[in-house]
Amino acid sequence: MKIICIGRNYRAHAGELHRDTGLAADTTEPIWFLKPDTAMLRNNDPFYIPAFSREVHYECELVVKVNRVGRAIEERFAHRYYDEVGVGIDFTARDLQRRAIAGGLPWEAAKAFDYSAAIPPHFVPLAEVGGDVQNLRFALSVNGEVRQKGDTADMLFSVDHIIAAVSQYITLRMGDLIYTGTPAGVGPVAPGDCLRATLEGRELLNFDIR
Ligand code: MG
Repeated sequence: MKIICIGRNYRAHAGELHRDTGLAADTTEPIWFLKPDTAMLRNNDPFYIPAFSREVHYECELVVKVNRVGRAIEERFAHRYYDEVGVGIDFTARDLQRRAIAGGLPWEAAKAFDYSAAIPPHFVPLAEVGGDVQNLRFALSVNGEVRQKGDTADMLFSVDHIIAAVSQYITLRMGDLIYTGTPAGVGPVAPGDCLRATLEGRELLNFDIR
């Protein structure tokens, strides 16, 4: 399986990312990148800050699980390719990303490293949370303080648009995960932090930083 991640899919975060890294805030098509399966951090296991970064940020995102194989999917049929959702963390070595952006280099070292994709122990049937993937609220708290609040209605590119766009280039397979971008409020993690993330009030992530 593979993990597909969307960059700057919420306007307010695109602005903060631009201020932090210089990455242009506007785009006409989704920006996407991959993480390998070795990036998965499962079962609410603790996240260990890697030695190669001094500035790892959390990015809480709605995660869509692909449930069938498809390529060159039309946007109007894209809803047939998922029926479960969750929340995940796209851990990002922001210092490495800043350097990559400045040099026009790939993002993999900053984004695709081991355990950089926290996935929930279980996904939620979309039907159980109202059935509309563009009408979901999620939130991240760090040490009990809310840091990120997302509403999928605010996405610049809808989940169906993302699926149509990405599947023009790469085949989607059952079990692939799509991280759909983060809202504003990203920030660094430190040893001892406790991250908790909810989707429509259901706690899906609860783990420690070490
Ligand atoms: Mg992200």
